[in-house]
Amino acid sequence: MKARLSDLLLLLLILQVGCSDAIDPSKFTTPFERSDSLETTSYSEGIAWWRSLEEASPYVCVQEFGKTDVGLPLHVVIVNASRNFNKTKIHENGKTIILINNAIHPGEPDGVDASMIYVRNLVSSAEFTKDYKDVVFLIIPFYNVGGALNRNCCSRANQNGPVSYGFRGNARNLDLNRDFTKADSKNAQSFLLFYNQWNPDVYLETHVSNGADYPYTLTYLLSHPKKLTPPLDDAIETLFSKPLEERMEAQGDQIIPYVNVFGTSPDSGFQRFYDSPRYSTGFTALHHAFGLLTETHMLKPFKQRVASTLRFMQNLGSLVAQNSQKIQQLRLQAVENSYNQSDYVLDWKVDEGNPSKLKFKGYRAFTDTSEVTQQPQLYYDRNDVWEKDIDYFDKLTPTIRTKAPTSYLVPRAWSEVIDRLNWNGVEMKLIDQDTTLDCGVYSIEDMETSDTPYEGHYNHHHTRASKELRTVKIRGDEYYLVSLNQRSKRFLIEVLEPEGPDSYFNWNFFDEILQQKEWFSSYVFEPEAAAMLDDPEEKAALDAFIASNPSFKDNAFAKLYFLYRRSDHYEKDRYMTYPVFRIE
Ligand SMILES: [Zn+2]
Repeated sequence: MKARLSDLLLLLLILQVGCSDAIDPSKFTTPFERSDSLETTSYSEGIAWWRSLEEASPYVCVQEFGKTDVGLPLHVVIVNASRNFNKTKIHENGKTIILINNAIHPGEPDGVDASMIYVRNLVSSAEFTKDYKDVVFLIIPFYNVGGALNRNCCSRANQNGPVSYGFRGNARNLDLNRDFTKADSKNAQSFLLFYNQWNPDVYLETHVSNGADYPYTLTYLLSHPKKLTPPLDDAIETLFSKPLEERMEAQGDQIIPYVNVFGTSPDSGFQRFYDSPRYSTGFTALHHAFGLLTETHMLKPFKQRVASTLRFMQNLGSLVAQNSQKIQQLRLQAVENSYNQSDYVLDWKVDEGNPSKLKFKGYRAFTDTSEVTQQPQLYYDRNDVWEKDIDYFDKLTPTIRTKAPTSYLVPRAWSEVIDRLNWNGVEMKLIDQDTTLDCGVYSIEDMETSDTPYEGHYNHHHTRASKELRTVKIRGDEYYLVSLNQRSKRFLIEVLEPEGPDSYFNWNFFDEILQQKEWFSSYVFEPEAAAMLDDPEEKAALDAFIASNPSFKDNAFAKLYFLYRRSDHYEKDRYMTYPVFRIE
C-alpha cells in the first residue's frame, strides 16, 4: 500500500512537471510587443529574454559558440521537443535541423523579433511535442553582434521603423552577407565551424529590402537551383517555393521572389538574384542544404513586416516538420550525386534572352522633374496598382566550367586557406613523406583587379588560368592531400579552382604569387642571352616576340626579359603559378 502511494505521488509529480512544460506566453512578452510594435529588441534585451525563456521551458537551450569581432560570443537558441541539446545526439536521433539566422544586417531586425514570438508560441502550443518531434530549430538571435550594438536612429534612410536599430557593417565594418567564403570576420569564422558541426538541413536568413516600391510586404529568395546539386534543384521549388507561396497567399499575405530592381520600376521585368557563394544562400548550396532568405519591404510598417516574417517562419517550420525525412533523404542523394559528378560550372551569367513570366502586382511608376536635380525623378503611385505578367530572367547560362580532379594538394604555407578548409569541415591529410607526383598545375594567365576596395579586398575577376601537367617534387610535411571523395567536394571546387568568382584566389588569398621575387642585371645577363640566341629556336622566338609589338623593337629590357623568362633563372614554379595542384 505504501509503495502504491509513493507511485501515486511520483505520478502526480510527473504530471505537475508536465503541466509546467507549457509556458504561459503572456509572461514572455517581447520588447517589440511591449512597445506597441514600434521598437526592436536590443542585443542585451534579446539575450536576457532568451535566457529567461530557457529557464522556463525545457525545450529551449541557449548556448554560446565562438567569438565575434567585437569580442562578444555568438549565441544559438536550440529548440527541441525531445529536450536534448547535444548536437551529436541530435544527429544520432535523425532530427531535421533548421537554422534561422537573424541580424546579419542589424538595421534589418524583423527576424530578431519574429523569431522570439515564433519560438515562444511554438513551445507553448499544444501540438509542439507531437508535430515538431522530428525537427530541431537553431536560432541565432544576433549574428552581427558588433553591428547590433551600434544602434542608431537613421542609417536605414528608406526604412519605415523601428525607431532605432543596429548598423549593417560589423565591428570591422564588414558586410557579413558577403563573408561566407572569405570569412574575414571572426563572426564568419565562428559560424563556419558551427555550421559544419551542426550541418543544418534548412537555412533561413532574415532581411529587409531596399529598391523598388510594390505592394508585397515580403519577398523571398532561394538558393539558385543551378547552384544546387540534383535532386535539391527541383526540390527547393516543389518543397519550399510553391507551398510557401500558396500558404502565405491563403493567409492573405501574398509573397513574390525577391524584387531585384534598383533605380527603375519592375514594369519591364527583373533578374532573379544570382547568389554566388559569398552570399549565405550560395554558401549553403555548396553544402547541399536548402537555403532561403526573407526580404520584407522597407516602406511597409515595422509591425506589418515582423508579422509577415513571423508568418513565413511558421509556414517554413511546419513544412520542414511535415517533410523532415524527405528533406534528409534528398540531401543524402545530393551528396551521393556530387560524388559521381565530374563536370562543374564555376560561374554563370543571367540568360537575358529567355525570360519566364512572373505574375506581378506593381504600383504605377511615373517620373516628375526633381526640384533638387532638375532631372527626371522616379516615383510610384500607390493608389494605382497594376497586375500583369512581367519578364523574369530566372535562367542562368554557364560561363566557366571545370572538371573535378580526384584530389587537390594544398601547401600548408597558405595557412589562411588551410584554416578556412578546416572551418568548413574539409577532411585533409598531411603528406608526411617526400614523393613525386604528376599534377595539373595552373598558371595565372590573365585577370583584372578592382581599383577600389570591396569588403576589405581588391578582388580579382575575369581570371584566366592555363593548366599543364607537371611532375612535382613534394617534400614531406609540406602539402595537404585533399581528396574530393568527400561531402565538401562542391565547396572545394568552388573555392580552390582559381577562376571561380568566389575562389580563394579571387579573394586575394594567393596574391603572393603575383609578385616576381628575383630579377637580373642586364650587363651580367647579356652574355648569357647572347649565347641563348645561338639556338635558332630561341632566336626565332625572340624575333616573333619583337614582331608581335612594334614598341619592343627599341626596348632593350623587354628583349632581355623575354629571354630571361625562357632561361633557367626564371622562377616559373613560383611566379604566377597557382600553388594548389590538382591530382587529375
Ligand atoms: Zn540585408
